[in-house]
Amino acid sequence: MHVRLDNPIDLDAFRRHARQLLAGGVPPEQVEWNGERVAGLFNETNEVSPTPLIAGTPHAVPASFVALCGDVILHRDPQRFALMYRLLWRLAHEPALRHDPLDADMMQAQLMAKAVHRDIHKMRAFVRFTRVMGDDGLDRHVAWFEPDHHIVEANAPFFARRFAQMRWAILTPERCVEWNGEALAFRDGADRREKPPPDAGEQLWLTYYEHIFNPARLKVAMMRREMPRRYWHNLPEAALIQPLTDAAEARSQSMIDAPPTAARRIRAPIALHVRPAEGVAPADLGELRAAAHACRACPIGALATQAVCGEGPLAPRHMLVGEQPGDQEDLAGRPFVGPAGQLLDRAMAQLGWARDSVYLANAVKHFKYELRGKRRIHKTAAQREADACAHWLDSEISLVRPEGLVALGATAARALLGRPVAVQAERGAWLHERSDGRPVFVTLHPSALLRLADGERVEAYARWLDDLERARGTVSAAIAA
Ligand code: SF4
Repeated sequence: MHVRLDNPIDLDAFRRHARQLLAGGVPPEQVEWNGERVAGLFNETNEVSPTPLIAGTPHAVPASFVALCGDVILHRDPQRFALMYRLLWRLAHEPALRHDPLDADMMQAQLMAKAVHRDIHKMRAFVRFTRVMGDDGLDRHVAWFEPDHHIVEANAPFFARRFAQMRWAILTPERCVEWNGEALAFRDGADRREKPPPDAGEQLWLTYYEHIFNPARLKVAMMRREMPRRYWHNLPEAALIQPLTDAAEARSQSMIDAPPTAARRIRAPIALHVRPAEGVAPADLGELRAAAHACRACPIGALATQAVCGEGPLAPRHMLVGEQPGDQEDLAGRPFVGPAGQLLDRAMAQLGWARDSVYLANAVKHFKYELRGKRRIHKTAAQREADACAHWLDSEISLVRPEGLVALGATAARALLGRPVAVQAERGAWLHERSDGRPVFVTLHPSALLRLADGERVEAYARWLDDLERARGTVSAAIAA
C-alpha cells in the first residue's frame, strides 16, 4: 500500500492515514510512505493517493508518543514515517513497548527527536540578519540559513516573538518564512544567491565579536562542538575565529604578564570627621545629617553610599517613619523614593494628603543589603543595629517636633515604642506610650504590600489606605486623649 503525504511535516495528515491503516490491520511492512514535499502542494486536498477508508477499532497511544512523533516528523530521514507507523503498530500490539526504554525503534525515534531539537537550537543561535531596503522603501532584515531538518515552520513563531517589531525574512533552501509585523508567511525555498550582501551592521557585529573574544577562556574543542564548522560559511564572525584563536595564547600570556589593575572602589571613602560625643545631640538637622553620614556605630554604615535622614517641614502634624533606606534611597540620599515610596505617594495622593505636609524618615539611617551579582538586595537590620541607630531617630524627632508619629512596619514601631510590636495586632490605633507624649500610630510598611501576591494585594491595600486615613484625620484627637 502506498501512502503519499504532500507536506512532509503534516502530523495531522500522517495521524489520519496511520489510524486508518492500523484500524484496518495493515502491518507496517505492507506500507510504503512517501512524504517528500511537492512544490506548490501544501494541503491534503492535493494528496495523490489517499489511504482507502478501512473500518476497525481505534487504538489509544500515550500522549508522549504523539509528542515524540511531532518532533520525529521534522527529521529529514525519509524513513521517519515508516518508523512512526511501525512504532504505532507495535504500541497497539505490544503493550510492553511503552515501558521499554532500550527498544531499538524507540531509541532511534528519540535520537531523531534530539537531532531536530539541536537543529532548532542552532537555527536560533546562528541566524544572522542583514538589513536590506525593501521595494516599498522600508527596511527589512533578511537572513540565510541551511537547516539540517524540516524545522522552519516549527521555529518561525520563536523568531516572530523575538523580533516582533522588525520586518524580517529567513531564507533556506527548502522553505522561506517572512514576518511583516503581523503574520508569518511561508513560501518555497530560495537559492543561495538570494542571500543579501553584508551591511554596515555586520562590521559592527564583527568589531563587537572581536572585542568580547576572551583568549583566556578559549576552549577550541568545545567551541567546535557548539559551533560546528558546517555553520561557519553563514556566520560572518567565522572569518575571525582562526586569527583570534591563533593569537589567543600570546594574548593570554600578555594578560598574565601585565601588572595587576587597581581594584575598583564602589564608593569613595568617607572621612569620619564627625563623631557625636556621647550624650550630645546635634543642634540642627544639617548637623544630624553630617553626623549620621559619618557614623560607624554599626557595620551597615561602611557599606552604604550615604546616610539618608528624613525630609519635610518642621513641626508637622505627622512624621511618618519607615524601616531603612532602600537601594534607590541610598543612591538619591532621600527617603521613600523607591518602589515602596512610590506606593506611599500613590496612597497619599488618593487620600488628598500632600507629601510635603508630612516629615518622612526612617528608623535606620543607612541602607543594609547583600550583593547578589551586581544587585544590592535589601536586608533587614539586626536588632542591635537598629538599637545603635535609635538615638539618631530620637534626635530627629526632637528637632522636627511632629505632633504624632506614624510607624510604617515593625522596625519603625519598635524604634518608636521601645518594645517589640506585632503590627497586624496593634495596627490602626494611636498608642500612648512614649515618654515625650507623642502618640504613635502603627500600620504596615508599603514594601510589605509590594511583597504580597496579586490576589491579596488589593484587599490589603484598601485596609492600609483605611489606616492611613485614620492616622491622618485623628492626630489632634489622639494628642488630646
Ligand atoms: Fe550609625 Fe545607624 Fe548607620 Fe549604623 S545604620 S552606622 S547606627 S547611622
